Amino acid sequence: ALDSTYIRNHIRTVPDWPEPGVQFRDITPLLQNPKTFRVLVDLFVHRYMDKQLDIVAGVDARGFILGAVVAYELNLGFVPIRKKGKLPFLTVQEEYELEYGSATVEIHTDACKPGDRVLLIDDLVATGGTMIAAAKLLTRIGAEVVEAAAIVDLPELGGSKLIRDLNIPLHTVCN
Ligand code: 5GP
Repeated sequence: ALDSTYIRNHIRTVPDWPEPGVQFRDITPLLQNPKTFRVLVDLFVHRYMDKQLDIVAGVDARGFILGAVVAYELNLGFVPIRKKGKLPFLTVQEEYELEYGSATVEIHTDACKPGDRVLLIDDLVATGGTMIAAAKLLTRIGAEVVEAAAIVDLPELGGSKLIRDLNIPLHTVCN
């Protein structure tokens, strides 16, 4: 509870960005401050150090920042789940609905080995669409999503419930 308050106090809410009515949770202050960055990374490292993980997957783009550091500290490799058109090798893709239109994420087909125990990391869960699409990609290439994790949950947008209803274990630090 102390940690989650500490982390929350270093997230900035920017009103009407990127469009009117949106309260954007800006995590850059958390990353910028060496103390909060370390507390944040260590929270994840301690949670996952004894979980027999094989690899960490991070979601484009803020999930790369946290995911890569957590992977490094856990002595694991890191794989990127990217927005469409950025990965050079063979990929699988998942399309998902946004408020207006759709988005597509992809992963290299050889990013994980079948049976790999994966930690999936992004910065924030809103509607859940991104995390669910990312988890589906991992499942499609044969990996097991041990847990999906994010710094922030916005529970009023319903994403965390949707994720858990799909039996994807989800951990978030604060909301
Ligand atoms: P969802 O797919 O759950 O609706 O949206 C989550 C995705 O959009 C995440 O990849 C996250 O980076 C981005 N996102 C949406 N809203 C916010 C926000 O308020 N703050 C941050 N940092 N990311 C957001």
